[in-house]
Amino acid sequence: MEWLIPRFRDRDLEQAFQQAWLPDTRTALLLLSIGGVCGALATMFGAWSHLPHDQPGYLPGQALRVLLLTGSIAAIVIALRASRPDTLLHAASLLLVLGCLTLALRMASPAPQDSALLEAMFHVNRDGLTVIMVVAIAVLTLMMGHYAVNAVIFALALTAYLLIANRWSDGLANPMSLIYAFYTGFVFILALSHGIQRTRRHIYLAREQLQEANARLHEIAIRDYLTGCFNRRHFYTLAEPELARAHRHGTPLSLLMFDFDHFKQVNDTYGHAGGDAVLQQAVEVIQERLRISDVLSRLGGEEFAVLLPETELEQAKQLAERLRQAIAEHPFEHAGVPIPATASFGVATAQPGDVSIDVLLGRADLGLYLAKDRGRNRVCVAATGTESDAG
Ligand code: GH3
Ligand code: MG
Ligand code: MG
Repeated sequence: MEWLIPRFRDRDLEQAFQQAWLPDTRTALLLLSIGGVCGALATMFGAWSHLPHDQPGYLPGQALRVLLLTGSIAAIVIALRASRPDTLLHAASLLLVLGCLTLALRMASPAPQDSALLEAMFHVNRDGLTVIMVVAIAVLTLMMGHYAVNAVIFALALTAYLLIANRWSDGLANPMSLIYAFYTGFVFILALSHGIQRTRRHIYLAREQLQEANARLHEIAIRDYLTGCFNRRHFYTLAEPELARAHRHGTPLSLLMFDFDHFKQVNDTYGHAGGDAVLQQAVEVIQERLRISDVLSRLGGEEFAVLLPETELEQAKQLAERLRQAIAEHPFEHAGVPIPATASFGVATAQPGDVSIDVLLGRADLGLYLAKDRGRNRVCVAATGTESDAG
């Protein structure tokens, strides 16, 4: 069926595509059903006042018009409520078939003689019906849905039309030319609309792929390749507005910086891959101990920062201590070889005069420097000089 109905293999994408065309299809069915109501009412009263009631086909004709009216009202309800374009399309197909049959039966009856206008309105000749059928099929096939179902509905409609025309008129002058006209038009429009829908699907797929590629590029641009946490640039992007918000609302904002101890030695002893493994595992260890709103980022090398919105200095110190401990106790390993690792932490909190995040980073860096100076694997705050020890 792929050649007939191009479908996305991805079910979510298929659904998204269907949803994208839902409003158009809904509008098309709504217009069609309103047309159906108007047409049914107009021809019903036209036939009632202008046709002899004992004329052959009069009663079946009125019955068909009532059916068309009911069908059109049902289609309005469906147009307003259905959530799948396919459902809407099949309702439209059936409505068009009803409309065409009503016209076919009217065509098979003699024209009202008393008004040229009414004649033009209600007496549809064979060419007119052909045009209407072809236009109807065009509307139908340009909507979303199954061509196969449309083809079946169309074949049924054509059969019913030929039956009606033969039963209530004196036969068709040339049924073969009629069939030829219908089928040529139908096949042509089917091919055209198939192409249109295929193109629509390709455009949609391309747009979807572009969006995915953009999302991937964005991820690449904001994340550190090795550890997957945010990179330095994105840290600034997030941290500057966070600092402004803290100043505006007077809420606390704290910052941790940490740097691995003697990392050159780690690399020298366990290899660069061993060092990499420590950094990757450390980010996991840290990340799972942070809140969603905390921002962990790799500033460079083996140096990281964590921005802590809504966090006072005291809480930040406690968190830093927990993180320090978690790293010191974590069984880092690479290729089955355990790698002991520790990190030193500097903590700072935003003050009213801090004009940029660099000021805060500078203060946390002083704390970090202090922690290194006092023997590493500890947490220090530069402004107060307080520290919590390796214990
Ligand atoms: P200190 O305790 O004073 O911080 O000593 P240190 O050896 O860690 O000193 P420093 O911060 O100057 O050195 C950082 C080392 O981290 C040097 C560099 O080779 C290593 N490093 C930086 N980035 C990476 C990385 O992505 N992977 C690995 N494996 N090592 C890295
Ligand atoms: Mg270091
Ligand atoms: Mg360093």
